[in-house]
Amino acid sequence: MLKPSRYIVSEKNRNGELLLMSILHCTYVKFPQAYADEVLTLMQSAVINESVGNLKIIDVLKTNKMLIASNLDESLLVDAMHKQHVFSNDWLYLTILPTNNCNFRCIYCYENPAEENMNDQTEKNILDFVRKNIRKYKKLRLNWFGGEPLQQKERVVRMSREINEICKANKIPLVGMMTTNGYDLDLETFRSLISNRILSYQVCIDGSKCTHNVQRPHFQNSDSYQKIYSNLLSIKRNIKSNTFKIVIRANMTPFVEEHLLGHLEDLASDFGNDKRFSIYFQGVRDWGGNRISENAVEIAPDEENYYKKWYDIASEKGLNSADFIPVGPVTGLCEANLKNGYLIYYDGSIHKCSLASQDETSKDIDTVGQIEDGGKMIIDNEKIAKWIVNRVSSENCYNCSLYPICCGGSCPYSKNIKGQKSCLPIKEMIKAHLRCLDYRNMIPTSLRECEENHL
Ligand code: SF4
Ligand code: SF4
Repeated sequence: MLKPSRYIVSEKNRNGELLLMSILHCTYVKFPQAYADEVLTLMQSAVINESVGNLKIIDVLKTNKMLIASNLDESLLVDAMHKQHVFSNDWLYLTILPTNNCNFRCIYCYENPAEENMNDQTEKNILDFVRKNIRKYKKLRLNWFGGEPLQQKERVVRMSREINEICKANKIPLVGMMTTNGYDLDLETFRSLISNRILSYQVCIDGSKCTHNVQRPHFQNSDSYQKIYSNLLSIKRNIKSNTFKIVIRANMTPFVEEHLLGHLEDLASDFGNDKRFSIYFQGVRDWGGNRISENAVEIAPDEENYYKKWYDIASEKGLNSADFIPVGPVTGLCEANLKNGYLIYYDGSIHKCSLASQDETSKDIDTVGQIEDGGKMIIDNEKIAKWIVNRVSSENCYNCSLYPICCGGSCPYSKNIKGQKSCLPIKEMIKAHLRCLDYRNMIPTSLRECEENHL
C-alpha cells in the first residue's frame, strides 16, 4: 500500500496544468490539465492501493517519490538530514564582518553604524585560525558581511586572497560570497574578488531610483541607485566569466511596490536572460533597532502577497526569478543552527546572529567565543548548544509541507533564544518557484503521450 508524501507543494499554472514538487527529494512533475483534479484527489487520500485506479498516474507519482510506502515515516528522514547538516564536519562556515561601519543609512536597518573596524592583529588571528584548522574540514564557505564589508575593501581583498591560497594549498574547495550594498563594487574590486573565489553576491536595489534612494540612502550621495546600477552594468559588460552569480534583492514595502514595474523593465532589458543575474524579493520586516519605527516604515501585513505577484511578473519580463531560488531539504536553515557556523566580528569576537548581537537582552548568549592570538578559537559550548539543538515544538511541523526546508525552526534566534514560533513565510515563494520553472519549460510533463486517450 502507498500513501502521499507529506512534503509536496502543488500549484496549477494558468493552463490548469498541475505542477508538483517533492520538497524532500527535489523532484518535479507536471500533469496535463486533464489529469490535474484526479491527481489532487489521489494526493489527498489516506492510503492508496497501487494496483487499483489510474496505474500510470500512480507510477509517475511513485517514481518521483510523491507516493511512498504507507508504513514509511518521512519525518525520520528529515531529522537524519537535519542532524547530518548541523553536526557534520564536512563544511566550515565562516561569516566575517570586517567592520560595522556602513556608508548607507537604510531606513529599516537594525544596525547602528560606527567606526569599528578590524585591525591587523585580528586579521592575522583569523588567517592563523584558518591555516591551522582547515584540514579538519572538507570545504570552506566564506561569507563577507557587515556593516558594509567593502568599507574595508583592501582588507577584504587581501584576506580573500590569503584564504584562497590556504585552501588551494590544502586542496580544500572554497565557496565565497558577499552581502554588499554594491556601492563600492567597482570592476577592479570585483575582478580581484572573483579571482579569489568570492563568486556569489547579494546586492540590494529597492526598486526604482525614486524608491531605492529613499529606502537606502547613501550617507552623502543622494543617488546611490545610479552608482550601484552602473557598477552592475559594468560587471555584466566587462566580465566574460560565467562562474559568478549576483542576486539583486529588492526589500519590499508598499512604497517600493508602487514603482516597481519600471525597475523590473530596466533590469530585464539590461540583465534579462543573463544567467549570472537574478532577482529576489524580500518583504521588509521589523528586524530590530529603532530606525524602522523612527522612519515610520510601512510594512505589509502579509509579505507572501509580494511573492505571489512579483516573481511571475519578473519571470514574464525575462528576468531570472524564483526559478533560481534554491529549494530543498535544509535550504531554509540559517547558519546559526550549524555547529561549525561562526560569525566573526571585526574585533575577533565570535557570534551566532547579527540581529541578536544588537539586542541588549540577547547579546550575551550570542557572544559564543573569541579568536585569540595565534589563531586559537575559544568557544563556549554551552552557549553554542542553545543555538544548535533542535527541539521540534509542534506536531504541526511534522505534517507541514515545508518541514524538510526548515526542520521545525529555521531561525534559532526566534525559536531557541526568544522562544517564539518561527514559521517561514515562503509557501508562496515556493509556488512561484514552480510557476517560474514552468515558464521556462523546466518541469517535465508526465503522461503527455496518453492525454488524448484520456480525453
Ligand atoms: S538566527 Fe534568525 S535572526 Fe539570526 S541570522 Fe539566523 S535567521 Fe536571522
Ligand atoms: S516551523 Fe512552521 S514552516 Fe517550519 S515546519 Fe514548522 S509549521 Fe512548517
